[in-house]
Amino acid sequence: MSSSAIHALPGGLALSAPMDAHIDATIHELDLQPSYYLPLINYSRTVLHPEVKSGDCVLGGEQLAPGVVAPTSGTLTEIRQHPWPHPSHTQVPTLVLESDGRDEFQQFTVIDHTQVGVEEILNRLENSAIHGLGGAAFNTANKIRRAYEHKNLTLIINAVECEPGINCDDALMQQHPSEVLQACNAIRQWLRLPSAVLAIENDKQTAITALRDDQTPDLTSIKITELPTIYPSGAESPLVQRLTGIKLQPGERATDAGVLCLNVATVLSIHDALMGQAAVDRIVSISTQSLQHSMNLRVRFGTPLKAVIEFAREHNTAIEAAWRSNTQTIRIGGPLSGFAMDMLNAPVLASTNALIVGKEHPLNEATACIRCSECATVCPVNLLPQELYAAAASEQLDTAARYSLDACLLCGCCDLVCPASIPLTPWFRFAKDATRQKQQSDAAAEVARLLSEKHSNRVQRRAIEKEQQEAARRAAAAQRQNSAQDIKAALTRVKNKRPGSGS
Ligand code: SF4
Ligand code: SF4
Repeated sequence: MSSSAIHALPGGLALSAPMDAHIDATIHELDLQPSYYLPLINYSRTVLHPEVKSGDCVLGGEQLAPGVVAPTSGTLTEIRQHPWPHPSHTQVPTLVLESDGRDEFQQFTVIDHTQVGVEEILNRLENSAIHGLGGAAFNTANKIRRAYEHKNLTLIINAVECEPGINCDDALMQQHPSEVLQACNAIRQWLRLPSAVLAIENDKQTAITALRDDQTPDLTSIKITELPTIYPSGAESPLVQRLTGIKLQPGERATDAGVLCLNVATVLSIHDALMGQAAVDRIVSISTQSLQHSMNLRVRFGTPLKAVIEFAREHNTAIEAAWRSNTQTIRIGGPLSGFAMDMLNAPVLASTNALIVGKEHPLNEATACIRCSECATVCPVNLLPQELYAAAASEQLDTAARYSLDACLLCGCCDLVCPASIPLTPWFRFAKDATRQKQQSDAAAEVARLLSEKHSNRVQRRAIEKEQQEAARRAAAAQRQNSAQDIKAALTRVKNKRPGSGS
């Protein structure tokens, strides 16, 4: 695939950071924290069962629950309800890990990808709790497993950070271009692919130059492909459409179509996991509300947001000023796709790619929809946001599903252009969440129905078996009785035939 193979994208918006934006690509490191908070819930909101209990001492990298590893060594003090970084502003069961300050890690062997099968590699990713770092935080091993079933697999390394204010991947590529390319190439090799595409937007020229400068001849199978800067090109379905021309159907995943998209930071995490290093952190971009100032910080999973903000305030005067102007609320994610959060004890997770500090512009009061279709024009997946909104706001989830709610990227393009200031994306997020909950409760009800059906079948079967046994017992008894009568009759006949018996 070459840059000439770029396909058009419907909709989208040309967003860019302010001309005078100062992005600090230095990756700062946040010190070890006294406590870490690890939610026992995954991206699809399934509650996870802990494999440890309060009082247990653990090492960094040790698995605590499926998909959850300890970010450092210490003691698990409790499992309690605690906020998590989610627009629902709810609390979920959370493991609390008190650091012992020693920061000791479990030792893992190095896996040589040229000597082992893919299944062994995927097991390591599973045990290392690798999740996508692009924002959706999918289980990476599962994603690769699904994609690997395809004969004609395409590998896309997603370095498209199209939303202003999110530049953690940009910083990573600027600081570690060689490691990024090596990691991409290793994955290409163990997936046995002749080449892979590293897609990056053309406003990231510093990172592109760094990658090209470090692209030694053995790394040329990683094709660096520049894309025009259009939001949301980094979302999976627009990216697949742009690079392959494949239009994913609502609900269809890229892996279903034989395309494996991996975020560039996730690729480095995968590589680290194979080298025996637990993946326990991510880079978080922290910006001011004006997006003029931004810094990047490497943060361990489970770190309270408050600790991240405090570090940023201490090291960046613009962020400190923005914090002081504000009502102690931050935004998690980008200016369009993110959501406000005031529970700052919620932890950083794999999905926490950016934080925005500063007073948000007050929203204009929403007025009635004027059917202008501006929202449909910018929708990158060809939805009808005005119809979706009508369905979501009246909680008609089946109608919303018919309007392909599932395909909505929650990108916020429609909100930005709506002249009636209707908060469309928050309604779509609500409807998606409600649909997921309904599906989960429907699934639970179906399981309960099947179990009850199985139970009544078993009771019925036992009754029939008992009846059959009883009938067999009665038949055997009758048979025995008949046999006894036959014998008795035979003996009588024999006796009567004896000489002198008189017959
Ligand atoms: S939020 Fe959903 S409906 Fe609105 S533009 Fe994005 S994909 Fe389309
Ligand atoms: S942009 Fe707003 S006003 Fe126009 S059709 Fe869409 S929802 Fe209605």
